[in-house]
Amino acid sequence: MTKKLIVANWKMNPSTEKEARELFDAVKNGVKNTKNAEVVICPPFIYLPLLQGLSLGAQNISFKEKGAFTGKVSPKQIKDLGVEYVIVGHSEARKNLNETNEIINKKLKEALTAKLKPILCVGEQEGEDKLVVLEEQLTRALHGIVNLKSKILNLVIAYEPVWAIGTGKNCSVEETIQSVLLIKKIIAKINKDLVDGVKILYGGSVNSINAGSYLAETNIDGLLVGGASLNAGEFIKIVKSAPGV
Ligand code: PEP
Repeated sequence: MTKKLIVANWKMNPSTEKEARELFDAVKNGVKNTKNAEVVICPPFIYLPLLQGLSLGAQNISFKEKGAFTGKVSPKQIKDLGVEYVIVGHSEARKNLNETNEIINKKLKEALTAKLKPILCVGEQEGEDKLVVLEEQLTRALHGIVNLKSKILNLVIAYEPVWAIGTGKNCSVEETIQSVLLIKKIIAKINKDLVDGVKILYGGSVNSINAGSYLAETNIDGLLVGGASLNAGEFIKIVKSAPGV
């Protein structure tokens, strides 16, 4: 079993710097002896420079390097803070910020150029054909970057069915494995050399009760956790449910 990657997406939480520090410190303390998982915290941008001692990720980035883009944050600026990861194409950004697969493709390219590790989120909405959606999202998001093998090896994919996010209806482990295998097949079709280097996580209503059953699977490389990552005790339990390496 390889070391699992467990990513916390705090979204637009918590509301104060004090709470952010408290949550971070509690998680840091709780997981300090954990050898079976790499923990990444993705807080709002403003807290990134304040938090130290665990790997960090940004929740989004601009696809521009610099310039007159009011309100945006560039990959280079994020990297300069010592941040390692960035979430790209989260379903909330696709929906609320109208991020298209083309924009996501540009963001992936900029993130990789800045030597950030992108966590590309893909997943179908309720009632959509999963095969069609995953094929389209992956093919368009990875367009033009698939031949750069050394870059793509930093890529993480999070399978996040939209219907499972924040709903309490997590995707079954069996269906998640099918989706992971499907994602690998699609990536192999794009470029067969890439499959081994890509990590595939599951995200959607993960909690301390169900986390272990995903993490026990060799095909699932880790988890992306939203709501449950805001409770230190709950998140620590999730991290501790990673099997021995
Ligand atoms: C997410 O937003 O990426 C997510 C997985 O959220 P939740 O765990 O709350 O479903």
